Amino acid sequence: MRFRDAEVACRSCQQLYPAGELDRYFWCHDCRRAVRRLGARWGRAVGLAASLAVAAYVLIRYYLILDVRLSDQLLPLYFLMLVITYVLTSRIAVAVVQGIYRARGGARPNSRPDDAAG
Ligand SMILES: [Zn+2]
Repeated sequence: MRFRDAEVACRSCQQLYPAGELDRYFWCHDCRRAVRRLGARWGRAVGLAASLAVAAYVLIRYYLILDVRLSDQLLPLYFLMLVITYVLTSRIAVAVVQGIYRARGGARPNSRPDDAAG
């Protein structure tokens, strides 16, 4: 029997799949999709929070404390900075969250990584 046809347990949900259907971390398609969805959700939340924090910092510091007005020419750069903040922080959050779930060995609520350890 070839390795790809052998039944192997997904390391996240412990269900048996042909080895060819699992990825290099031995996760099945559904678990990969679940961890991607979790990562995307966290990425959006962290990116939004970081962008709002940067926007609030700039508005409070420059408009309220220093009383400096942004010129119209700088306004696109200001929004570009917020977009870059969103993209970078959300990508970092996606990578971190997916890494955490991969390391813990489970992405789905019904997955029980503790059973696999024994
Ligand atoms: Zn699975």
